[in-house]
Amino acid sequence: MGLMRSVLLAGSESPWLRAQATRRAFVRRAVSRFMPGESLEEALGTAPDLARDRIGLVLTRLGESVTDAAEADEVAAHYLDALESIRAQRVNAEISVKPTQLGLDIDASRCLAHVRALAGRAAALGNFVWIDMEQSRYVDATLELARTVRAAHANVGVCVQAYLFRTAQDLERLLPIGAGVRLVKGAYKEPAEIAFPRKADVDANYLTLARRLLADDARKAGVRAVFGTHDTRLLGAIAESNAALGRPARDAEFHLLYGIQRAEQQRLARAGHAVRVLVSYGSYWFPWYMRRLAERPANVWFVARSLFRS
Ligand SMILES: Cc1cc2nc3c(=O)[nH]c(=O)nc-3n(C[C@H](O)[C@H](O)[C@H](O)COP(=O)(O)OP(=O)(O)OC[C@H]3O[C@@H](n4cnc5c(N)ncnc54)[C@H](O)[C@@H]3O)c2cc1C
Repeated sequence: MGLMRSVLLAGSESPWLRAQATRRAFVRRAVSRFMPGESLEEALGTAPDLARDRIGLVLTRLGESVTDAAEADEVAAHYLDALESIRAQRVNAEISVKPTQLGLDIDASRCLAHVRALAGRAAALGNFVWIDMEQSRYVDATLELARTVRAAHANVGVCVQAYLFRTAQDLERLLPIGAGVRLVKGAYKEPAEIAFPRKADVDANYLTLARRLLADDARKAGVRAVFGTHDTRLLGAIAESNAALGRPARDAEFHLLYGIQRAEQQRLARAGHAVRVLVSYGSYWFPWYMRRLAERPANVWFVARSLFRS
């Protein structure tokens, strides 16, 4: 792992740095590149512009590692309201939730009850709930959560991370149940005993897993295969694999982050792929933003430039 990436990921967990950064106007300005605003309304406000390019949304309210049950309940209530707002405003938007924001650290059954309620309401509204994947210590509980909710509701998907050695096996257990699967590279700091340390190996594993997700048996089981990456080489290889299987472009679905590779998002949508942009909002943006910087340390220069402009 690069030194800069390690430093940024370590910093993402520092409460002191979070308190400092969130007070600085120049940091907030730099963050706005990846986040249209802190409110749900601001996030929903991006929809018309994206819809013109036939790009949908996935909404996520930033927050994680919640230790207060009342706060987890409030987050669940917020997402229930968000589902109603999406419907009322006729926006093409799904939601993506973090288990630790819904109380996984406090009580797994409380978290399950929240995700179940969200999936139930989303099903009634014709919507879909994605479950994010967090640090490796949460993988078992998160997959269990996804499997349990999926048994009652078809409109649930879970994220899996290509940097973990275990993901190939995890995928084999998810495919037969026809769950939605969003494949990403993985955003956290994980030890070499459980995760590929070299980026080239993560990329190679990503493509292997992506092809597995596109396979006929997965499709027949009803898997919704989503590829969450900005890596143009992988995006191209996945589109090619999909075409080689004789499938229409819309069968390969891509999710990218708001503010990253906009031209590529438009190009994929023009080529006929299903495309969504994950739009984050909320006030708890510091650890999430540090992970975005770690993905591309060149982004640190955007922060530095904002400082000199302030
Ligand atoms: C829709 C979506 C959902 C996600 N959900 C999760 C999740 O639940 N759990 C999890 O661990 N991770 C999640 N991630 C993050 C993911 O794990 C990666 O950290 C992130 O997508 C960067 O990897 P990459 O695939 O884009 O490839 P990289 O090899 O990191 O990047 C490829 C290229 O994309 C561009 N790029 C990538 N990131 C940035 C950036 N921050 N700023 C500017 N340019 C950039 C650069 O040009 C870079 O060269 C999600 C990502 C997406 C897109």
